[in-house]
Amino acid sequence: MFLSVKELEVRKIRFDETFAPGKIDFTEEDLEQSLSLHATGAAELVEESEAQIRIQGTYSVEMAAQCDRCLGRARFPLNAGFDLYYRPASDIAREEEVEIDEGDAEMGFYEGGGLELEDVLREQILLALPMQRVCSEACKGICPVCGKNRNETACDCHVQKIDDRWGALRNL
Ligand SMILES: [Zn+2]
Ligand SMILES: [Zn+2]
Repeated sequence: MFLSVKELEVRKIRFDETFAPGKIDFTEEDLEQSLSLHATGAAELVEESEAQIRIQGTYSVEMAAQCDRCLGRARFPLNAGFDLYYRPASDIAREEEVEIDEGDAEMGFYEGGGLELEDVLREQILLALPMQRVCSEACKGICPVCGKNRNETACDCHVQKIDDRWGALRNL
């Protein structure tokens, strides 16, 4: 869904969109969208600004990725709100310094005649995901000795920890 500045000059654009898995590409990030993405909100031009777009809304989705520890499937249900400001990229060239006076609001830039809602949502989803992708905080991972998934099978392997203090005592 394209949020065009021309249209925003005339009216506020409300959206209530559902994107089925596959509509937005996450393969580059090794991510999979496992449930439909639903987003509602509105886009408008900020008054007395030069084509500054404000997009407010909420979204819900479930993403999936490979667990960093056990290589199983890790699911990330996301449900969040956003309030974003975008300025035309041409502003950067015009002004030496870009003033951000919207407090804590995030500021982005757009090129051309507007923004794709899909790109806005994609960015929000990537920002919302944790750095470490694990299936659960308690994930035991893969045994470094026998290679079994320790969440599924308890193995008897002992990972030997060498404690130098005791070794030094024994050598006395
Ligand atoms: Zn795991
Ligand atoms: Zn093992």
